[in-house]
Amino acid sequence: MDDKLMLMIPGPTPVPEQALRALAKHPIGHRSKEFEAVIAEVTENLKWLHQTQSDVLMLTASGTGAMEAGIINFLSPGDRVIVASNGKFGERWAFVAKAYNLTVDPITAEWGQALDPEQFRQKLEADTNKEIKAVIVTHSETSTGVVNDLETINRHVKAHGEALIIVDAVTSLGAMNVPFDAWGLDVVASGSQKGFMIPPGLGFVAVSAKAWSAYKTAKLPKFYLDLGKYKKATDKNSSPFTPPINLIFALQTTLRMMKQEGLENIFKRHERQMKATRAAATAMGLKLYAPDHAAARSITAVVTSDAEQIRSIVKKRFDIVMAGGQDHLKGEIFRIGHLGFVSDRDILTAIAALEAALQELGKATAQVGAGVAAAAKILGES
Ligand SMILES: *Cc1c(COP(=O)(O)O)cnc(C)c1O
Repeated sequence: MDDKLMLMIPGPTPVPEQALRALAKHPIGHRSKEFEAVIAEVTENLKWLHQTQSDVLMLTASGTGAMEAGIINFLSPGDRVIVASNGKFGERWAFVAKAYNLTVDPITAEWGQALDPEQFRQKLEADTNKEIKAVIVTHSETSTGVVNDLETINRHVKAHGEALIIVDAVTSLGAMNVPFDAWGLDVVASGSQKGFMIPPGLGFVAVSAKAWSAYKTAKLPKFYLDLGKYKKATDKNSSPFTPPINLIFALQTTLRMMKQEGLENIFKRHERQMKATRAAATAMGLKLYAPDHAAARSITAVVTSDAEQIRSIVKKRFDIVMAGGQDHLKGEIFRIGHLGFVSDRDILTAIAALEAALQELGKATAQVGAGVAAAAKILGES
């Protein structure tokens, strides 16, 4: 049905009507006083969202561009960096690091499992010459629905003293607690089409004072992604290049919505929806890909050899889009996004559609309705 599409994928995520209306406004000049006021408000609210007094910079780029900026601004060719990987995005940061001739020291875990913080401790403690310049970690690994224990990993990085921690928080920021200042994170990157509730096109990078001192001696080449340019401009409520004005109008709207809901409530909502989705999948006889203790707040991956048929029916019959598996997981899992502008009602709808799809496929192993009942029970508790 036209205009009925419901996105239950981990990006792009649904966009509230207020933000859509902001996107439809006439653009204004990006050097105008009016736009300076918008940048000032948005910058302040981005700091609120990141729980920081440090800089949060906006780039016209997807999340990958923000992450690339977060890596190249603080390092020099040949620098040794730990790149952690337990899924598609972790692998991507290793490719970026190699593309810039960094020396990649990998820490890996199997897809579907969380990274082991002990491995970070051992590598960092063994580095008495302080050769490791950065630790690059994906907080919430969207390809598998696994969340890594960033707090503990970061503690080991702090104990090392020298290395920066560079975090892909693309599907954790705005879904769970990532307190930039309290944890002493150095670089945190994210993208607009995830927890920010607006379409793709903006990338965000938060930068600590320690990272800025590394910036002064970093020698990797950069121009468009030179964060120094963005800081200088942002300090004057401006931008170095023409920014996506209407996306920033939309961001102004959604950040106000987020402030109104409050960080704690936002985190609770994502946790509740994660629990409801997982309980529903289990009640329906489906297998979860990520273990309970490392379940991402923003996405639930379900293991089934019928993944593609299920996705196809859910889309065709119910206008709901769920994500498939990536790389070797294609056809093996499907992923339900519950990130950003997702209400409890959306979870119930998606679960009911899944149950109907399983029935249509003749693959329902539990009584139809068992999933909705399990989800409703959890959603009703709070
Ligand atoms: C979406 C996503 C990104 C960014 O992807 P882009 O397509 O470049 O916006 C990076 N990391 C994770 C974990 C993601 O989910």
